[in-house]
Amino acid sequence: MSATIPAEALLAAAEQFGTPLYVYQAETIARQFHQLETAFTGHPTRFFYACKALSNQTVLRHLRGLGAGLDCVSLNEVKLGLHAGFAPENILFTPNSVTFEEIVAAKDLGVHLNIDNISMLERFGTTYGGSYPVCIRLNPHIEAGGNYKISTGHIDSKFGISIHQMRHLERVVKSTGLNVKGLHMHTGSEIKDVDVFLRALEVLFDAARRFPDLEFLDLGSGFKVPYKPGDVATDMAELGLRVTAAFAEFEQEYGRPLQAWFEPGKYLVSEAGFLLVRVAVVKQTPATVFAGVDSGFNHLIRPMFYDSYHTISNLSHPEGPERVYTVVGNICETDTFAWDRRLPEVHEGDLLAFHNAGAYGFEMSSSFNSRVRPAEVLLENGELRQIRRRQTFEDLLAGQE
Ligand SMILES: *Cc1c(COP(=O)(O)O)cnc(C)c1O
Repeated sequence: MSATIPAEALLAAAEQFGTPLYVYQAETIARQFHQLETAFTGHPTRFFYACKALSNQTVLRHLRGLGAGLDCVSLNEVKLGLHAGFAPENILFTPNSVTFEEIVAAKDLGVHLNIDNISMLERFGTTYGGSYPVCIRLNPHIEAGGNYKISTGHIDSKFGISIHQMRHLERVVKSTGLNVKGLHMHTGSEIKDVDVFLRALEVLFDAARRFPDLEFLDLGSGFKVPYKPGDVATDMAELGLRVTAAFAEFEQEYGRPLQAWFEPGKYLVSEAGFLLVRVAVVKQTPATVFAGVDSGFNHLIRPMFYDSYHTISNLSHPEGPERVYTVVGNICETDTFAWDRRLPEVHEGDLLAFHNAGAYGFEMSSSFNSRVRPAEVLLENGELRQIRRRQTFEDLLAGQE
């Protein structure tokens, strides 16, 4: 169990707001953001929070206050960012498989555009020439990341423009007069090996040699945070030093300064979040002991979707003798949060906390089985504040005939 878990506050939150419940610690988000800032003080660097990890307005405003920009993958995310007070110049639109109309709509909102398809670049250049700057998303074909579903750099990936198409890309840029001011790549998620980022950066430098007017190079994200005991996180201090040194050297050759941009999602919010659930039943079968909780993969899909491991704390009985449980949800198909997990003895009514639930937790939740989505609560300066109410039965009916 993590030493830093705010057990008292979590127990109070469940008491006050009920379960299942998402709780986010504002200070943890700030700590993570400052860690990034500190690691990259040696080079002009900007951090655009990838808000697909967790897009609650209060969380967005918190990150804006810390000095983050925003990375958005849909037009609605851009609009949520503007609504949370982000200036358009601090928003980056990095979509995939969207229509030209969506790209134009983002342009009309004044945000940075990251285009990842030659046909769209050609159309954009033909329509607007160099009047609106663009960033180009490249695919370096670097295999990395914790899971195929979240790995984006491989050869079969739909993301970015292949670095093997550079000649074609150059021709499109020259013939349309596109104003290319940034190059981008995002190789995947959960990359713990600093060397992978440095290799990606070398590929970006190589591509940058063909574009003389760049202002920034965007390395995307993929920073890893610890999920299970013994997990290694991306070594930010080392990454910061090596990226800084690499930029300094390349700028000499390139002849003008280049900002470094990053788009961290998970790194900023994963550890800040807990999903609190109540044990509904303890069921002994011939094969195993199930702890069945009042939530399911409709609220936290990562274990079923990515085989992710989430540490579980028994907040009601933290000191009990350990026993082995399969922790399951209430959805009517296989719905397992944890297999064969050692937990302090679990009783019906106990409050459990899933750790690392800040990123891709609430955000990927649904009302499958007509079970409502949980409420969200912010824990800040020791105080609890509901930042999204629990859905209701009326919400399920809303918009229907
Ligand atoms: C998902 C995504 C991110 C964030 O990834 P994390 O692993 O959550 O840090 C950043 N950039 C782009 C383009 C993404 O699609």
